[in-house]
Amino acid sequence: MTIRLYNNNSYLTVFSSVITEVTDDAIILRETAFFPEGGGQTSDKGMLGDCEIYDVQEKDGIIYHYTKTPHSYKVGDVVEGKIDFDKRFSDMQQHSGEHIVSGLVNKTFGYDNVGFHLGHDVVTLDFNGLFTKDDLTELERKANETVTANKKITVTFPSPDELESIAYRSKKEIDGEVRIVEIEDTDICACCAPHVRLTGEIGLIKIVGADKHRGGTRMSILCGQRAMEDYRIKQEQNHGVSVALKVKEYETADGVDRLLKKKAELEYEIGRLNLEIAKIHADMVKPAERIIIFKELNGSNLTAFADRLKEKATDFVAAFGYVDESNYQYVLCSNSIDVRPLCREMNSALNGRGGGKPRMVQGSIQANKEEIKRFFGI
Ligand SMILES: [Zn+2]
Repeated sequence: MTIRLYNNNSYLTVFSSVITEVTDDAIILRETAFFPEGGGQTSDKGMLGDCEIYDVQEKDGIIYHYTKTPHSYKVGDVVEGKIDFDKRFSDMQQHSGEHIVSGLVNKTFGYDNVGFHLGHDVVTLDFNGLFTKDDLTELERKANETVTANKKITVTFPSPDELESIAYRSKKEIDGEVRIVEIEDTDICACCAPHVRLTGEIGLIKIVGADKHRGGTRMSILCGQRAMEDYRIKQEQNHGVSVALKVKEYETADGVDRLLKKKAELEYEIGRLNLEIAKIHADMVKPAERIIIFKELNGSNLTAFADRLKEKATDFVAAFGYVDESNYQYVLCSNSIDVRPLCREMNSALNGRGGGKPRMVQGSIQANKEEIKRFFGI
């Protein structure tokens, strides 16, 4: 069993230990300050002597420090370990913040934390219950009050008898020694991870998301420096929107809403004008037996154009809208004949697809202008 130095001192960043085993890709020590991946939290990173440690895992009580650095360390050598404390401290801020939020949720709503993930960016907490928007605002306020009250966070290993009398939160039954993390007046929970000493060290606790998940809620939180960084990015984005729309920073959502409404009105107006233009174009075409015509029109405008034009053709109208050199949209329509056989023939000759009613069909073809003209013999 590897002795876990972080259990009683989460601020130990440099330590020495003797190597007890060396494998192809890992080093095992008598004792370590490296926290292995576990309980939803990623492992510490850092250095062991000259070796960069990129991952730390625990198997059957033994802690494996994984490295890709070539080395000649052997059993019995004494090495110095150094933890990447920026990462560790950020993890401690997130994890202690999570205990405050989960403890408050448990006390206030009676919900349990049924899932926890502390990754490289956001921290997610799953609860077996739902929250209103007001619940979340109040929860966040209380969590931050606990931070500013600078409550003590202590770690103990109670005996089985002592444990009987402690009401603590725990995600699952734990065999053997139970490590209890207590946040003064706020929460008691069984947990194996390193925590900060005082809640004031957590800094800001921010709930950044709460989505319905498996009948409960998946909440996302950020603490300390991560919350500050999130605020910085969001502030920068919001400021950009505020300047672009010339609205106050607290009114950007209303500003975007107004802009989208205006955009929809303009799109409607553009559509209406395009239809007018399509009809004017049709009115300028001279009457003929068959009208085969190419226009820079597409979609409903091409349909309106051809529909208007069919009054002038005794046989049929074939209108082609330019997409690119070898792709055209088409509308075939007539006042007197079934255009579907012509449509099928054209689709097969010009790599087309589409169809419709006897008097009007539409679709697209993969052919250039010359190929289309050749098909119609013009
Ligand atoms: Zn925990």
